[in-house]
Amino acid sequence: MELNTAETMEPNMTSKPKKIAEGLFHLPAGNPAEGYLIGARCAKCGLVVFPRRVVCPGCLDRESMEETALSKHGTLYSFSVNQVAPDGFTAPYITGKVDLPEKVRIFAVITGCEATEDALSIGMDMQMVFEAVGRDAAGNELIGYAFRPAEQH
Ligand SMILES: [Zn+2]
Repeated sequence: MELNTAETMEPNMTSKPKKIAEGLFHLPAGNPAEGYLIGARCAKCGLVVFPRRVVCPGCLDRESMEETALSKHGTLYSFSVNQVAPDGFTAPYITGKVDLPEKVRIFAVITGCEATEDALSIGMDMQMVFEAVGRDAAGNELIGYAFRPAEQH
């Protein structure tokens, strides 16, 4: 693998938050409350997908996918407690799938609770949040999306 971009050549002396990936979410600087996951909705058949796709997986139309802001609330479909973490992350941690009202299922890290089987229950209300999920090799904070149990009102 070749790594010869300017970014990897220059030492990074100051730590600054970076997104885990481009194109997955919109997060205005200094205003995380305005952020959202970027999905695509098919104008022909109504199917919503995440991440965005050019071709609709439902009706195979190539012109019909339009960018859409996904809901920040959903219900927990499934989860698992992971005892081994990739570099830059801390175990144990929880990953899970959350169903949004748009009928799209999002895979994400689950935060805001203890990393135990008892901390969550299938079908509970979940809320999407942006937060630091780890660090890259240069020590920059990696900002990603996660879901946490929704606050009870
Ligand atoms: Zn479609």
